Amino acid sequence: MLNYKIAIASGKGGTGKTTVSLNLFYTLQKSLDQKIQLVDCDVEEPNIKLFTKGELKSKSDVNIKIPVIDKDKCVYCGDCAAACSYNAILFVKSISHIAVLEDLCHGCGVCSYVCNQPNVIIEKDKKLGEVNTYKLENANELVEGKIEIGSALAVPVIAKTLNSTDDKALRIIDAPPGTSCPVMETIKDVDYTVLVTEPTPFGLNDLKLMVETMRKMKGRFGVVINRAGLGDKAIYEYLKNENIPLLMEIPFDKNLARIYSEGKIMVDEVPEINHKYLQLFENIKFNLNEPNYHR
Ligand code: SF4
Ligand code: SF4
Repeated sequence: MLNYKIAIASGKGGTGKTTVSLNLFYTLQKSLDQKIQLVDCDVEEPNIKLFTKGELKSKSDVNIKIPVIDKDKCVYCGDCAAACSYNAILFVKSISHIAVLEDLCHGCGVCSYVCNQPNVIIEKDKKLGEVNTYKLENANELVEGKIEIGSALAVPVIAKTLNSTDDKALRIIDAPPGTSCPVMETIKDVDYTVLVTEPTPFGLNDLKLMVETMRKMKGRFGVVINRAGLGDKAIYEYLKNENIPLLMEIPFDKNLARIYSEGKIMVDEVPEINHKYLQLFENIKFNLNEPNYHR
């Protein structure tokens, strides 16, 4: 049984990352006789559910502990505010004012630790998001992370989403777009990352940032070029010069765009695309097992 964790990422949204995740999953679902999980870590805008049919199997909240200060017992020393790295405690000594700014609080617990007055700070749960697991065909599953509207703390929700996956399953993980902390959290422990880009100057620029991130993290990766045939050849030169594997090209095709916009799966509708995704998986496996990988 294969239990690889394969992330699908891109330097910006709208490059076709989710399309690749979905089509790779559906291709492997047809060809492998084992459990596969599709994992949606794009927690601010999880949309894989829209393309799947499955019933909810389990649901769990992602919470952090945030402080509640008893103002009658507080001696207004300011130690908690000084110790908070996130400036989440507003403290004005001259007017004896103290308040927790819940949106900035990361739930680290330092303020409770430094306060030496008994029972002044207690902690309460704050919901950051949830992890939902849906049962799909052939005992496969969708594990979806979702943050609460208005919450800026994606990382704990992503961490719990990934911790809720099955270690024995092959996991296809749709990462959030960009190169910030949520992406790092998603890809830090994966076996392989597929970077999806487009052959345009913007696509190349975002790809370079992603490649920098991957190299810092020492992760194995390769590139899929979506909407191939549009734009220029600069991206191909870049991949060649940097010795980065080109795993697959998806041609620019109005028919494929229509299939996606209708919420359908390309590999179900266009057999040639199915073959491309099988080859993509073979290329990933080859790269994963390459003993002298150093990019
Ligand atoms: S729990 Fe951490 S982040 Fe939140 S207010 Fe206390 S010290 Fe600041
Ligand atoms: S450390 Fe405790 S007593 Fe001091 S200001 Fe903060 S909550 Fe009040």
